[in-house]
Amino acid sequence: MTGMARCPTCGTVYPSDRPRWRCDCGGPLDLEPGPGLRRPDIAAADASLWRYRAALALKRPPQVSLGEGWTPLVARDWDGVPVHFKLESQMPTGSFKDRGAAVMLNHLLEVGVGPIHEDSSGNAGSSIATYAAAAGLRCRIYVPASAPRGKVVQIAATGAEVRVIPGTRQAVTDAALAAIGESFYASHNWHPYFIEGTKTLAYELWEQLGFAVPDNILVPTGYGSNILGLDRGFDELIRVGEISRRPRLFAVQAENCSALAAAWAASAADYMPFTPHPTIADGIATVRPVRTAEVLAALRRSNGGVATVPEAEIGPALKALGRLGLFVEPTAATAGAAVSRLLRDRTIRPDQTTIVVLTGHGLKATDKIAELLDLH
Ligand SMILES: [Zn+2]
Repeated sequence: MTGMARCPTCGTVYPSDRPRWRCDCGGPLDLEPGPGLRRPDIAAADASLWRYRAALALKRPPQVSLGEGWTPLVARDWDGVPVHFKLESQMPTGSFKDRGAAVMLNHLLEVGVGPIHEDSSGNAGSSIATYAAAAGLRCRIYVPASAPRGKVVQIAATGAEVRVIPGTRQAVTDAALAAIGESFYASHNWHPYFIEGTKTLAYELWEQLGFAVPDNILVPTGYGSNILGLDRGFDELIRVGEISRRPRLFAVQAENCSALAAAWAASAADYMPFTPHPTIADGIATVRPVRTAEVLAALRRSNGGVATVPEAEIGPALKALGRLGLFVEPTAATAGAAVSRLLRDRTIRPDQTTIVVLTGHGLKATDKIAELLDLH
């Protein structure tokens, strides 16, 4: 099965038979809804996201896999309330990005791609570089000078070329855009197959809960690829008749840099200018999300919302998670702080099934965590 990619801005439809990261009009592309899958279609012997291969818009079995997906779903008490933590931190590269990167790289191999490049604050760069290495593709990653050292080291260890760009995060993206003539821009924020990969999180939660739909899912969110993947995955399961309702999706942002919260508070349908401040949650410090309108629409469709977390609550949440045996980076810890807030203001209830997605491993950010723990 191959996907058809559609531009929501101008309506142009492209067959996904060649490397293409956006529409000719400049807008981001979406894959048309997939066929979904029914329970018997799950390749249950495969302990990875490839158990849902029947639902993916790929022509062939994967050419490259590092065993990504099928991450643990662990039940723990949080503020005295039972919560399910989804340990996306236990992916091959230590972050949820491997779902999107693995599926996108396999698509690019199917349609024939040469050298690739990407811009990233860290985790997506680590993931794309890792899968490019596994696929034998040449890869260059543009990173901001502020990127956590652990992530830059991880990228360099794959053999990818690391280009450190001074200035703002936008300057990093501009450098990647300027390189489009040299290699394919394998952007996790733009390429629709990245979301095709993140949708497997929806399938996985549904299966791990005994083929049930959770009530609430909280996700640390920058550009929103997990929100869009969850929306797409649960939508496909509804279309095929396996489920009859959607979970409420909550995008968790650091109050200091919350593009989605600014638009949400203004009841806007698309991006609203706001003033960003520094945050320790580097993975979601996104000033200009590419698919803001789509993410806002997905949150509204789910009757969910945006939860912001003050900077002072991120460190305590990280420590509380650590004491449960859940060692995560500050970006992921925002979800712990957010579930406390949503319980406290009764947006969500203790008797509901709530999923907290822990997006990245603590080993990626030991420099920042050492500061939080007052280690010298
Ligand atoms: Zn277009």
